[in-house]
Amino acid sequence: MTTHPKYAHIDGPIVMIGFGSIGKGTLPLIQRHFDYDPELMVVIEPQDREASFLADQGVRHLQVKITRENYRDVLGDLFKDGKGFCVNLSVDTSSLEILRFCREIGVLYIDTVAEPWEGFYFETQNNAERTNYALRQVIRDEKAAHPGGTTAVSCCGANPGMVSWFVKEGLLTLARDLGHDAHPKTRDEWAQLMKNLGVKGVHIAERDTQVRAAARKRGVFVNTWSVEGFIAEGFQPAELGWGTHEKWLPDGAQFHETGCQAGMWFPRPGAATRVHTWCPTPGPQHGFLVTHNESISIADYFTVGEGAAPEYRPTCHYAYHPCDDAVMSLHEMFGSGQQQDVHEILDVDEITDGIDELGVLIYGHAKNALWYGSRLSNEETKALAPWQNATGLQVTSAVLAGMVWALENPMAGIVEADEMDHARCLEVQRPYLGPVEAHYTDWTPLVDRWEHFDENLDHDDPWQFRNVLAT
Ligand code: NAD
Repeated sequence: MTTHPKYAHIDGPIVMIGFGSIGKGTLPLIQRHFDYDPELMVVIEPQDREASFLADQGVRHLQVKITRENYRDVLGDLFKDGKGFCVNLSVDTSSLEILRFCREIGVLYIDTVAEPWEGFYFETQNNAERTNYALRQVIRDEKAAHPGGTTAVSCCGANPGMVSWFVKEGLLTLARDLGHDAHPKTRDEWAQLMKNLGVKGVHIAERDTQVRAAARKRGVFVNTWSVEGFIAEGFQPAELGWGTHEKWLPDGAQFHETGCQAGMWFPRPGAATRVHTWCPTPGPQHGFLVTHNESISIADYFTVGEGAAPEYRPTCHYAYHPCDDAVMSLHEMFGSGQQQDVHEILDVDEITDGIDELGVLIYGHAKNALWYGSRLSNEETKALAPWQNATGLQVTSAVLAGMVWALENPMAGIVEADEMDHARCLEVQRPYLGPVEAHYTDWTPLVDRWEHFDENLDHDDPWQFRNVLAT
């Protein structure tokens, strides 16, 4: 029988907000890897979908929707003694306000996305305010205004989250293979290493091949994780960390005048904007330029210098090929101009085949490009942990790693994955990631382009964003 390491004791309540696909998958990892008083575990979930499941697990279900008006009362009541852990895995709850409150009362906090209150994504008229840059910057401003204090881990899932640890592991692999003696410790040293290795940018390059036998029905949005979350981020503007090597700008490109200034966005929905990228299974593929927190955080972390014109900054963005049913769901949604009413998340037991291949494509250096990541299959997932598919386990195991790190560093203030000890986090997470591999490729965005149309490419510099953005 497999024995699972107990990483820490959690003193006080564990309160999970939201019990969707990620909450359900995180529960068994918490049960396995921490010592805690089960009587003090509470799941706050407004729906009753999983009520009997939670009862069977002996977990208290508080059927409440967390809102701007009630979060202090509800959480204050549960965390009366000012200790414990708040694990926020919901949509539509403000990460900023909840993490601020948890830190005020001395409770550890983690989430997987810088989430706003309900209504924000579609009711905010100003596109600059709807960017992940803006959502991240308010958390960074909170950190700057209140340094140190109780640890709150911001955006620690697979991506954002684990991929920041993969960037560091990938850089160390590249350094070794290029004969650099590299032992970076500080942020400055990591940024300098990326610069010295000649890296121009990073794609968060993902291919999800999970499928089920039944065909998707028209009018149904199918995905391997939160449909609501994916639609919300898919309608945010296309956005990326903007590197110092870039020579060209897409139409309508916009920069920010305040904050770290590492980001650029342009006025198109990210999930309707395609980029050329590469993953080990398909080789070259189209991915969607869906905005993500890590596009900005990685570009910011690896900046040498600061502000709008630093000495060095990598380009960084998501290049996501979700499962085929999700691609068709997006196609239908953007074509019809209507969001589907029926949402389905592929269940681990109905998936007949496929893997989630999620890694970082570090490009533009002397070895051209290196993909470093997890190639976890749904079949392997079943043997590793219950109640989730491969996509889920890549996320939930990152939440586990983030919780372990927070318990080992309880007074580290507000941190994002880039600022955590990547080796420790991956040590905790790796048993759940299936094959974690490094693959070099000589593919560039200029390879095998269709010559019959003038695509306005930059033939002198293959890794320009102009070549990456699909026409
Ligand atoms: P889901 O849609 O399956 O579940 C979300 C749950 O939150 C639902 O059960 C819903 O009822 C609940 N909820 C909604 N409003 C709430 C409120 N006001 N108060 C309390 N609960 C509320 O989503 P999921 O797939 O479990 O994802 C959860 C979160 O994790 C999302 O924000 C998603 O974007 C994020 N996520 C991050 C990563 C990553 O890698 N960083 C990956 C996947 C998901």
